Amino acid sequence: MASKGGEGEHPSVTLFRQYLRIRTVQPEPDYGAAVAFLEERARQLDLGCQKVEVAPGHVVTVLTWPGTNPTLSSILLNSHTDVVPVFKEHWSHDPFEGFKDADGYIYGRGSQDMKCVSIQYLEAVRRLKVEGHRFPRTIHMTFVPDEETGGHQGMELFVKRPEFQALRAGFALDEGLANPTDAFTVFYSERSPWWVRVTSTGK
Ligand SMILES: [Zn+2]
Repeated sequence: MASKGGEGEHPSVTLFRQYLRIRTVQPEPDYGAAVAFLEERARQLDLGCQKVEVAPGHVVTVLTWPGTNPTLSSILLNSHTDVVPVFKEHWSHDPFEGFKDADGYIYGRGSQDMKCVSIQYLEAVRRLKVEGHRFPRTIHMTFVPDEETGGHQGMELFVKRPEFQALRAGFALDEGLANPTDAFTVFYSERSPWWVRVTSTGK
């Protein structure tokens, strides 16, 4: 059934569609609405919520589930809240309506890149938490602005902040890419990222 959500729909799908309707579209994303949405999630899930304004109007929101051993470095589940613009006339459905068709396809700018991931983190944490699971490591979900324009007023500034250092990150997840086959695409990296290339010249 095509619907606005609610009746007969899985609550995680309903939440995803709500988030798709928040117009965090470049070049003037409604970040205020996104932050308010995330604060409400923190309240509902009883998670810590910290807001760090890294540049005017550019708030990084951190939702925290403390682990049983807070001396360990943390797991970061990172995602960006902004989305790229649209040419609305080329869409079959309003890109900010969160429309779901009779086959179950959900149309929306950000449905793949990457509001799906943000909601998956939130819903995974919600389920684990309400089912009584506890883990040694603290989990921080970081929601950053500005990724689609380079992150210069988002993550690039956040990683230099004392609030970021205080997270004591040990490992991070962030977006991948869709894969049209039965496989999943994972970006892999170890040691130092390969795009850090150092040239030294001798005498
Ligand atoms: Zn993305």
